[in-house]
Amino acid sequence: MDFTPHDAFAAHREAARAWAAEHLKPEWVDDERLRGAHHHPELHRLLAAHGLLAAGWPAEYGGSDVDRGFADAVFEEIHDYGLAQDGWITTWMVLHTLLRTGTEEQKRTMIPAALRGEAIIVLGYTEPGSGSDMAAARTRAVPDGDHWVIDGAKMFTSTADQGTHVFLLTRTSEPKNRGLTFFLVPLDASGVEVQPVHTVGGQRTNATFYTGVRVPDSARVGAVDGGWDVVRIAMVFERGTRNGNHRPGLLDRAASWARDAGVVDDPGVAEQLARLAIDEEVARLLTARAEWITRDGGLPGVEGSMAKLFTSEAAQRQHAALLDLLGAEAVLDQRAPDAPLAGEVEFAFRNSLVDTIYGGTSEIMREIIAAGRLGLPRSRPKER
Ligand SMILES: Cc1cc2nc3c(=O)[nH]c(=O)nc-3n(C[C@H](O)[C@H](O)[C@H](O)COP(=O)(O)OP(=O)(O)OC[C@H]3O[C@@H](n4cnc5c(N)ncnc54)[C@H](O)[C@@H]3O)c2cc1C
Repeated sequence: MDFTPHDAFAAHREAARAWAAEHLKPEWVDDERLRGAHHHPELHRLLAAHGLLAAGWPAEYGGSDVDRGFADAVFEEIHDYGLAQDGWITTWMVLHTLLRTGTEEQKRTMIPAALRGEAIIVLGYTEPGSGSDMAAARTRAVPDGDHWVIDGAKMFTSTADQGTHVFLLTRTSEPKNRGLTFFLVPLDASGVEVQPVHTVGGQRTNATFYTGVRVPDSARVGAVDGGWDVVRIAMVFERGTRNGNHRPGLLDRAASWARDAGVVDDPGVAEQLARLAIDEEVARLLTARAEWITRDGGLPGVEGSMAKLFTSEAAQRQHAALLDLLGAEAVLDQRAPDAPLAGEVEFAFRNSLVDTIYGGTSEIMREIIAAGRLGLPRSRPKER
């Protein structure tokens, strides 16, 4: 086993940096931050046009011959540049879920459309009354001939304002976990309404409402009442395969700042930076393990939860520690000329607050690890 840092991308790092230097625009970062958007349409189109979204996907579903390692290295550069790509991340999760649970027609239409950058799929799981307990969803889908009629409301449907489809969890019969069904619902369908919700992290997410929304049966993903099997696969791709608000180069930039500011000789500062470096390494390895299992065709259930839990909590520890290290001016935001590290720590701190909530809270991750790895009893009995 090779534990070399960034081993998988080392060969592509230089080319990826050159790509980023040539194509990424600082105004996209400003635009995303000011709008609270975690997706930039111009960047998304560019990635599609360069075959980067399609890297590593099967050719029959529109995969490109761009090297997947190069594409991943570019995505890391984009992340480090300060651009969020949630529109692609949620789309990517759903495409992987479709590969395993979708019909051949869904794979042949949705996957190529998404890899061309034309379809952007967002997640519609959480409701005003059900988040961690996702199986308590009440948004109802009722059959009507060869169509379904959907009524209900979803909370935190992030990027729905820029997406084309929502991967919607609905209730089709009463048994809690065995009465759920998924649909891919076009966001421009009649009866869909999207309203903004703004978070402390400055992100715009959404509440979405569904009133008499009609979709054909071909929009159903998985079996009727088989939604729990689908969501179990989808959740695996949400945890441990992408790094929330972890910023690969931030610690190095903070260490440079400490050197320039002359505080690096303070043993307390050096110790703090060393602790953060260890956190980064553990987060990287846990994430790499989950990604490695996924690439081998496995489903990293417990491993993904470990990576998600550790990475999100490590990001919060890192940003809080760096705020302390940089001093009072660290709370200045990016628009203030004197903001240290161009306001990056302040922004990252606010953003990482939500990392331990979405994609499953830390408490839920601990429960999965305790039950799945240690065989401990669940705090909430399973309902069927
Ligand atoms: C910024 C942001 C973006 C999001 N984006 C999306 C999205 O795109 N699509 C989507 O569907 N959802 C999204 N979510 C929703 C997110 O997945 C939920 O917020 C999360 O699952 C928690 O659900 P909840 O908010 O209903 O809290 P609750 O489930 O009500 O939890 C409240 C508290 O109780 C704890 N708790 C609950 N159950 C247990 C238990 N069994 N054992 C121990 N503790 C427990 C939780 O850990 C938490 O601390 C987003 C959330 C945020 C904040």
